[in-house]
Amino acid sequence: MPRDPAAEQLNEYKKRTKPGALVLTGNGVPIANKQSSLTVGPRGPILLQDFVLIDETSHFDRERIPERVVHAKGAGAFGYFEVTHDITKYTRAKLFSKIGKKTPLVARFSQVSGESGSADTSRDPRGFAIKFYTEEGVWDMVGNNTPIFFVKDPLMFPSFIHTQKRNPATHLKDADMFWDFLTLRPESTHQVLILFSDRGIPDGYRFMHGYGSHTFKLVNEQKETIWCKFHFKTDQGIKNIEPDKAKQIGANDPDYSIRDLYNAIATGKYPSWTFYIQIMTQKQAESFRWNPFDVTKVWPQKEYPLMPVGKLTLNKNPDNYFSDVESVAFDPANLVPGIEPSPDKLLQGRLFSYGDTHRHRLGPNYQQLPVNCPYKEQFVINYQRDGLMNLNNQDGAPNYFPNSFNGPQECPAVRSPSFHASGEADRYDPINEDDYGQATLFWRKVLDEGAKSRLVRNIADHLKNASAFIQERALRNFGKVDVELGKRLTEALRKSDAKIHASGISANL
Ligand code: NDP
Repeated sequence: MPRDPAAEQLNEYKKRTKPGALVLTGNGVPIANKQSSLTVGPRGPILLQDFVLIDETSHFDRERIPERVVHAKGAGAFGYFEVTHDITKYTRAKLFSKIGKKTPLVARFSQVSGESGSADTSRDPRGFAIKFYTEEGVWDMVGNNTPIFFVKDPLMFPSFIHTQKRNPATHLKDADMFWDFLTLRPESTHQVLILFSDRGIPDGYRFMHGYGSHTFKLVNEQKETIWCKFHFKTDQGIKNIEPDKAKQIGANDPDYSIRDLYNAIATGKYPSWTFYIQIMTQKQAESFRWNPFDVTKVWPQKEYPLMPVGKLTLNKNPDNYFSDVESVAFDPANLVPGIEPSPDKLLQGRLFSYGDTHRHRLGPNYQQLPVNCPYKEQFVINYQRDGLMNLNNQDGAPNYFPNSFNGPQECPAVRSPSFHASGEADRYDPINEDDYGQATLFWRKVLDEGAKSRLVRNIADHLKNASAFIQERALRNFGKVDVELGKRLTEALRKSDAKIHASGISANL
């Protein structure tokens, strides 16, 4: 069988380079012998003056940076976005200013809860993040392959993620943690159904949709505002992997999705997505039957139709995984004039936490790394100075503002329109919000009979590992989505080897 482009990467490198470069120490001195340490006699010991060894080893000891707490494993690629439809009446963002306009970008797709060595075919949401290098700075669209999320308050996020990761005592994935938290927070039910549906295991990253998930605000030239959601629909069509095959692939080729994306691009099968927006006026938002800023809810597409905007194409593999993918730092707070946040609480929390985590993972000057740099590899001018690994200290330019010495000036033209905010400050629990209505629509209207059966089987196969009292709570919650779903799940659990107290459940449905 012929080797694929991923397997051929080193041969390709050899073909396009010339032999004969000298290997140097970190301080640029040629190394005479890169294979033998400096020892006293052939059997050692090693001398402390062996700088070649110390230089090499001490750098190796520091190769790893902290992996992302979430989205640790992923694949990335470069490409461009092209405008196909005019939306300038909604936003003044320059990347949308003209039909035909192209903006370079980098994309990263990821697993959410697995570590950087985990299998690409796990049932897990997938990250879908795009960094647009626009002429007005970087816009990061940091979404997932699902239109909604499990929780809506950022205070819940660390606990939620802990439950999807490892038990602190056993260091194993733990069905009790997983289902205990989710069933105690019924707003997660909608997302749980999507996760356990066929689309919970996409066939690699090319065959899934992407969503901005949150509501954003668009601002046009006249400073008029409108609420908006972002959708990226795969042009390859949706393709999923059924669970048994996913386990098999996970065992044989845990890097399946990374390999698939790399080989597709290397062989010219450039994946693309059509970009749509949904919009909602202020007036519509006031009378919408759900909170339009609740990330556990969608906006129905029949009422708020998808409007095409453009096409995103990936046509270049990373030159270096660490520089281009491991170091890429997406932040929902990276917005450009014309795109602004909404009051969505989870979004508001993310506006802080992404930059915070990058400063921890990559250092305070992470925006200066080439892949993160605005205008792609041109440094910005501003009043930020110094800090670890600074590559852009701006010579003798004034480091304070205002100043009288030609330092960079403000740009009033990009000022955001003011907005009104008032209310009683409190810690509001989202009780009495409809946790089940859209989950019910998903079960009743979106899934056909085959998809329903597979969803029931997928949930039962996982839920059967939780303690009986947690299974019972889960069945009560799923019964509120639809009595039929609760009954079918009860039946599926009874047939499994679950330790379920079946008699206690049906009474509650
Ligand atoms: P629509 O019938 O207009 O849209 C249904 C949507 O569901 C389509 O985007 C479809 O994607 C998508 N879909 C189909 N199967 C699955 C699946 N297994 N997992 C996730 N998404 C799937 O209905 P509404 O807009 O009124 O929404 C009804 C329900 O559909 C919602 O409650 C929500 O659960 C789900 N949904 C809604 C979305 C939205 O933005 N409104 C987006 C995604 C899901 P495709 O067109 O590619 O088949």
